[in-house]
Amino acid sequence: MKLPPRAAGLMAVAVLACLTGVPGMPGASAAQAAEAGALPSVDMEATVKAAQIDPRRPDDTLTPGAKASVLLVERALRDRRLLDAKWVDGYFGTTTIAAFAKFQRSLGRTGLAASGLPDTASLTRLGAGRFTVTHVIGPGARVSTGGVVVDARTRSMLAEAKRLLGRDLVLLQGSYNPGGDPTSAGTHDGGGVVDISVKGMSSATRTAAVRALRRVGFAAWLRNPDQDDWPWHIHAAAISDTDLSSRAQHQIGDYYLGLNGLAGRAPDDGPKVPIRTWEEYRRH
Ligand SMILES: [Zn+2]
Repeated sequence: MKLPPRAAGLMAVAVLACLTGVPGMPGASAAQAAEAGALPSVDMEATVKAAQIDPRRPDDTLTPGAKASVLLVERALRDRRLLDAKWVDGYFGTTTIAAFAKFQRSLGRTGLAASGLPDTASLTRLGAGRFTVTHVIGPGARVSTGGVVVDARTRSMLAEAKRLLGRDLVLLQGSYNPGGDPTSAGTHDGGGVVDISVKGMSSATRTAAVRALRRVGFAAWLRNPDQDDWPWHIHAAAISDTDLSSRAQHQIGDYYLGLNGLAGRAPDDGPKVPIRTWEEYRRH
């Protein structure tokens, strides 16, 4: 194509602008700006929700609102030869969990950090050059509260549940506690999980405490000694905490599916509360 000299000059200016930067965006190259605009986004909250529920489903129902994000994740796993193309379907089931765990191990991670539940760092790495990550969830640092260790997100959730309840909650067991309670079968190995004393609580107060915990984003149940050989207590697992152990992830999936989080997968026996994550609670 032959251009009149003036048009050619304008094009040269445009090319130069691309090379040197975007007006009004100091420091950002045009390539970066174009890339940010062109890349699709993965909604981390929706993806983590699907990764907790889908492995527990008896059927192939997709988690509402998660399909587009899960597909982007699955295509990236497929292109790294970690997931067979036939599983690229928007369903974050056990095969996709296993593929994501393989990806996490490829980053040099082990144990809890390679459970297959997407966390911010691994999801961002997987998306490099392919997708951006929005609605980021972070468990935060490990902190000590009430004599036990939890992550900062869980501590904030507990503080809000206490405020709603109007009384203190005494912690019997915290998180990151592998082998701390042999009857808990690994649920307390990771983050987001606490046991709460019900000593001195009336039956109504116990129910109110479970309700307050559920409202702020815990999958919470009152447990009796027949269920897990421990004295009466409340077991609570923070929904979508990316440090959850695999066992705790399964409990949360079961909670979404209306079950009680125990091995027998009986119906949920707790107070009915609309299920919300901590992030969803804070937006309301
Ligand atoms: Zn527990």
